[in-house]
Amino acid sequence: MRTPFVAGNWKMNKTADAAVTFVREIAPKLNAIEGIDVAVCPPFIAIPAVAAAVTGTKVGVGAQNMYYEVSGAYTGEVSPAMLQGLCRYVILGHSERRALFGETDEGVNKKIKAALAHNLTPIVCVGESLSQNEAGQTQTFVSGQVRAAFAGLDDWQAAVCVIAYEPIWAIGTGRSASAQQAGDIIRASVRDVLADLFGRDTAQAIRIQYGGSVTEDNIADYMRQPDIDGALVGGASLKPTFVELVRAAVV
Ligand code: PEP
Repeated sequence: MRTPFVAGNWKMNKTADAAVTFVREIAPKLNAIEGIDVAVCPPFIAIPAVAAAVTGTKVGVGAQNMYYEVSGAYTGEVSPAMLQGLCRYVILGHSERRALFGETDEGVNKKIKAALAHNLTPIVCVGESLSQNEAGQTQTFVSGQVRAAFAGLDDWQAAVCVIAYEPIWAIGTGRSASAQQAGDIIRASVRDVLADLFGRDTAQAIRIQYGGSVTEDNIADYMRQPDIDGALVGGASLKPTFVELVRAAVV
């Protein structure tokens, strides 16, 4: 049985002070919601203060990215060793990082391995563009991303990962995939591919989120899909109503 998991990706929003004020408001309310795991992923600079503010609650903390090397001459980067002990999760391969900062499947694969080596739980993002979707390439593209991301992992390593299927055309656009659409793609292009790579038992243990314009009004529909175990939420995780969204995710 997979425990549902909702994570908020704050992207490049909120100063450290604003992040702490916000999380102090929502953490006690999130803590009272049973039957679901929840995390917030603030900008790097706010992680220590947010982590301190949620101590003693069920709210987990994640980073939005990291580099795969442990230390060295990589100006501007943050390493897995720096995140270890500070937060539990790390979002890897978000489509904004792939599109705007040139991240590749190969780099994402290295980051996943580095995160696991430092006891961080990767939230691995995959998803197709609008043109790929319209050209009928979704299944081929997304399953290829999954295979590339998980190349060379053992099944026990894959089992602790979280995957977020986020169609790029649905991120921040208000144009979400239908629950049925998302559920079908996740089954065929993510869960079945994981089963092929690691066996059905391992695939069944892996939590798979949907992401893309999720709100408190549509989350329950996604959660009713048998292969959707939660959501990666952008815009709607920045507001106090994130609490209602998480509550509505327990179906
Ligand atoms: C995201 O940032 O991963 C995301 C899904 O954003 P939004 O919920 O705003 O579409």
